[in-house]
Amino acid sequence: MLKTDIVVIGAGASGLMCAIEAGKRGRKVLVLDLANKAGKKILMSGGGRCNFTNYSIEPENFISENPHFCKSALSRYTQWDFLALIDKYKIPFHERDHGQLFCNDSAKDILNMLLAECKQANVTIQLDCKIQSVKKTSPQNLEENKFQLKTSKGSIQCQSVVVATGGLSIPKMGATAFAYQLAAQFDINVLPTRAGLVPFTLQPGDKEKYAPLSGIAISCVVSNKQQTFKENVLFTHRGLSGPAILQISSYWQPGEIVRVNFLPDLVLKEALQEKRRSKVKVQLKNSLAEWLPKRLVEVLINQKLLTVSLQDISDKKINEIVQAIENWEIKPNATEGYRTAEVTLGGIDCSQLSSKTMQSNTVSGMYFVGEALDVTGWLGGYNFQWAWSSGWCAGQYV
Ligand SMILES: Cc1cc2nc3c(=O)[nH]c(=O)nc-3n(C[C@H](O)[C@H](O)[C@H](O)COP(=O)(O)OP(=O)(O)OC[C@H]3O[C@@H](n4cnc5c(N)ncnc54)[C@H](O)[C@@H]3O)c2cc1C
Repeated sequence: MLKTDIVVIGAGASGLMCAIEAGKRGRKVLVLDLANKAGKKILMSGGGRCNFTNYSIEPENFISENPHFCKSALSRYTQWDFLALIDKYKIPFHERDHGQLFCNDSAKDILNMLLAECKQANVTIQLDCKIQSVKKTSPQNLEENKFQLKTSKGSIQCQSVVVATGGLSIPKMGATAFAYQLAAQFDINVLPTRAGLVPFTLQPGDKEKYAPLSGIAISCVVSNKQQTFKENVLFTHRGLSGPAILQISSYWQPGEIVRVNFLPDLVLKEALQEKRRSKVKVQLKNSLAEWLPKRLVEVLINQKLLTVSLQDISDKKINEIVQAIENWEIKPNATEGYRTAEVTLGGIDCSQLSSKTMQSNTVSGMYFVGEALDVTGWLGGYNFQWAWSSGWCAGQYV
């Protein structure tokens, strides 16, 4: 029977960060992972360049039933702390829109940095390891070796277990419901989960109607009752994607309408009225084509109007045109689900954990970190920052 201080289950972003911090404190840490490689999601993130954090991290950028829970961790291990680590390893990075920070070269830089830190902190990583059971040993043994794990690589006794197995997104990459199942085993509440940061599929009729737009990407304002995002929308052969759609998908409920303003930087009504005053006659479709892709105009606007010259269009019709472009309503059929989702909404109920240590309020020695928790960030480096911050906090106490 192997004995160690801490077992971290999951060698992803949050698990590695927790292991590093605990190892630095002199704790004996063993990280176990089902996969044959650590940090697979880090490697595929941000199109291979890992959007590892954001210059502006606010609690408002996170979705949770307990919106205050994330504040403590995010304020104790900030984006500046992670940037200091990036600086220590001289990893070149750049800023994109909305303060998003990406590696210049490769996401490998981030993973190699974490693995180097693990090595320095004497953390052991065991890959290809299936966890068969986690049991708490008798209460008499409270301080020593509270947990017994059975794994495909043998049995382990440890004082603390950190669950860092992430959410359900991208099952092909090895995502499992391990964290939720373990929580349920220990009577820790799990909130319903759903896919977040995920493309929409369209109703059959709409899918056919908008199929010719596949490939068009356009800067829009997308909103529902709860939130508004200004980013690109991308029409695909399956439906709608692009950053604005991924963002709103995390706030979307089935059956709900999403609104899109295709010309957020123009007061279209005024612009059309201005053009109408000109003596030169121009067809509506040509006027609109100055600001929007032709294919989009042809699908959004009534065919009969397209070839009419602007001067012959009534105010009432102008209002209808403006409405169709500035307030396009679409009722998605569904999301593409976990298959393509970047994150999982819901998960371990934060009210069951300490926001300072990430330890369960009821099972002493059991900690949950990262995406497994009901804390989900926006697109833009927020999910990794949550992984770093929550992992770091647990690492100070395990
Ligand atoms: C395609 C894609 C791109 C993304 N890009 C970004 C981005 O650029 N910026 C950003 O902030 N976020 C991004 N995300 C989200 C981000 O990757 C996650 O939020 C983050 O990795 C969560 O960290 P974690 O440690 O909780 O879980 P993970 O990083 O998912 O790690 C979980 C680990 O647990 C292991 N595991 C799972 N089940 C078991 C089990 N039963 N037994 C043992 N081990 C197990 C897994 O193999 C994995 O190594 C992206 C996600 C995807 C899918």
